[in-house]
Amino acid sequence: MGLDDWTDRRSDEDETDQLTRVLGPTAPQAPPQAPPQGAPASDRRDQAVRAAVEQGIVGPDTPLAGLLDIAGIRAGAAALRAAFDEVTAPGTPVLHAFAVKATPLVPVLRLLHDAGIGAEVASPGELALARAAGIPPAHTVLDSPAKTPAELREALALGIAVNADNPQELARVDALVQSAPTRSPLGIRVNPQVGGGSIEALSTATATSKFGVPLRDDGVREWVVRAYLDRPWLTRLHAHSGSQGMPLDLMVGGVSATYELAEEINSRAGRRQIDTLDIGGGLPVNFASDEETPTFAQYARLLRREVPGLLDGRYGLVTEFGRSLLAKHGTLLARVEYVKSAGGRPIALTHAGVQVATRTVYAPESWPLRIAAYDAKGRPKSGPATGQDIAGPACFAGDLLARDRPLPPLEQGDHVAVLDTGAYYFAHHYSYNSLARPGIHGFATDSREGGGAVRFAVVRAAQRVEEIVAEAGGGLRDGLRELGGRG
Ligand SMILES: *Cc1c(COP(=O)(O)O)cnc(C)c1O
Repeated sequence: MGLDDWTDRRSDEDETDQLTRVLGPTAPQAPPQAPPQGAPASDRRDQAVRAAVEQGIVGPDTPLAGLLDIAGIRAGAAALRAAFDEVTAPGTPVLHAFAVKATPLVPVLRLLHDAGIGAEVASPGELALARAAGIPPAHTVLDSPAKTPAELREALALGIAVNADNPQELARVDALVQSAPTRSPLGIRVNPQVGGGSIEALSTATATSKFGVPLRDDGVREWVVRAYLDRPWLTRLHAHSGSQGMPLDLMVGGVSATYELAEEINSRAGRRQIDTLDIGGGLPVNFASDEETPTFAQYARLLRREVPGLLDGRYGLVTEFGRSLLAKHGTLLARVEYVKSAGGRPIALTHAGVQVATRTVYAPESWPLRIAAYDAKGRPKSGPATGQDIAGPACFAGDLLARDRPLPPLEQGDHVAVLDTGAYYFAHHYSYNSLARPGIHGFATDSREGGGAVRFAVVRAAQRVEEIVAEAGGGLRDGLRELGGRG
């Protein structure tokens, strides 16, 4: 895009100012900037594992913990911002709203807030987490498919952006908008129905997806256009065509269809009614190696090539990345409690299983995870690899993180690290067998020559057994007895 294109649009100056007011400054602190180059992520991980063992974060009595690489998270946030800075016209308001469901931890949301990232929330709990992290309403977007009247009322009272999922929800929003003024930017979520990726359960843009208004169904496109023409206060349009397993060109196709719809609505309205497009998240993550691919920059450049009008400054942008911001910066570290052999297969019984890697245990083909072997002191294990099952602690036969995985032979007291688990894994506890939620610790490494000093900060304390009892009705012991009902 040339400078002239931008100069032409200067007549829209006041509109741009208005957008900036709505979206707010996306850089509360420093401008995007790559953090100082330290050690590669794999070196930082090795240092953190060693230190976690030495400092007793993982040990005989705390055999499982989640570790978060703070430098990696900061670098990911900076890379996201830089990627869209590169492809958008100067002055384009851009809000990167982290999908809280990927890693619902307040200190993580706070760190991202410091890095200029807001929050996409989809439940009262997630909204409360974002607020606890200090994320302002102007940097928050509410998107869930089943919002109650109370949730909608709260969001509109706070001025949080809301995307209505369906006609019935829009009718609720209508009533609220009429009953009280709101600063909330409001939009409709559409499903561009561009097709699914390789994981059915994670494909949001299939013909029959439960999300949004199905744009290609009979009469729906016209319904959407009319919905906007009838409601001058609808100023946003939202689509999220992810996620893991989704090819990039399908994602871009979804964004493109959404952009075309906004153009049609604006042209029929005879004004720039839709001023902001929310393009969702859904960038897939490489779980096969340490390489970060595809990158935010690749996605942004593909958008510039395929949907240039989206980025030319006429629209503000909202993104909602989750997995791609956090997955690669989390590691689960578990002690090997026992090793045994059955039917000729060596089995390592560890403390990482279905409770912290639910998707991998129930759908191993879709969600393979890398596993790294460390010795009892937390040093990387080497030696010829042999096939081993890496089992979790839960009492069902399928509780395996890996089958016949080639690894240096594991011994009792060794450790396994389950890689790329920073999103949708250890922060998503599944309380099978009443297994405790593990502690989660952020780490920072000293990258100086011969450094190796690693500092940890608690992100979430481990669940105590008393808490398990209390959450399982421990205080209500006689509740059923007192109900009577014996006839
Ligand atoms: C889950 C979700 C996201 C984030 O998806 P990722 O694949 O983690 O990037 C973004 N927007 C909406 C509406 C979602 O439901």
